[in-house]
Amino acid sequence: MSRWKCGIEGCDARFEDVEGAIIHQTTEHTRHECKVCGTIVPDGYFAIRHAFDEHTRAEFVRAYDADSSAVRVREEIKSDVEEEADLNSVVRTLREQGAL
Ligand SMILES: [Zn+2]
Ligand SMILES: [Zn+2]
Repeated sequence: MSRWKCGIEGCDARFEDVEGAIIHQTTEHTRHECKVCGTIVPDGYFAIRHAFDEHTRAEFVRAYDADSSAVRVREEIKSDVEEEADLNSVVRTLREQGAL
């Protein structure tokens, strides 16, 4: 079974590599509007990264009506992805496709 699952709103597309999953999330799903600041970002990993790099945990919890376990799940996804992904190559691929 492939390791990486898209996970956006019940999407169960699976990928052998994490880069494929992020590219899928960015190109196949509708964009996400950040509930804290209104910025439009790709859904999935990039939305998580935006929320936690740009905003505090407290802002996230308030805007999304989230609890601490929702924060923890997202922090784990973010660190798993960042351990594994070649994000420079993901961004390069997405730019070439005109998706970023
Ligand atoms: Zn998906
Ligand atoms: Zn934001």
